Amino acid sequence: MPLRPTGERDGSQPPANIQINSMKICRLFTFEAAHQLPYHDGKCQRLHGHSYRLELTFSGPIQPPQPDNPQSGFVADFGRLDRVVRTELIEPYLDHFQLEESIPTLVYPSAESLSAWIMAWCMTHMDARTELGNIRIETVRLWETRNAWAEADRQDALPFIPIFTTPPQPAP
Ligand SMILES: [Zn+2]
Repeated sequence: MPLRPTGERDGSQPPANIQINSMKICRLFTFEAAHQLPYHDGKCQRLHGHSYRLELTFSGPIQPPQPDNPQSGFVADFGRLDRVVRTELIEPYLDHFQLEESIPTLVYPSAESLSAWIMAWCMTHMDARTELGNIRIETVRLWETRNAWAEADRQDALPFIPIFTTPPQPAP
């Protein structure tokens, strides 16, 4: 028997005061990448790699239960979210790349800078994307090692936004 919203079984409606309108959801991704920080005064000036962990937190309205909506009751389906982020962000730019080569606009590939760049990517590619409901990226937390992360909020990404929103200029 298919799952049905509470209230349909006995013909009553769920009480309005338990309705939740908006929530945050978070998905964890992992990727491996290399980088080099030439201005560092220690080991990080050498080419080296990390097993990064990336936590993307989105907010959005919970989709109302409807028989024709497989994302009923979700902000967005984690599987769909996963597919988009993996195929459009992680595979083309991050996984098994040297970051300063795969993302020339990063300027300096620290965890701080990379988290802000990823935030800008999410703001321009994930916000209000119709197949994912009506989500909005809230925070990008990037774990560079097991015990160190950098976190970007929307404000931190503003310098990177023109990279994704300004059309390329024709050559003179
Ligand atoms: Zn490093």
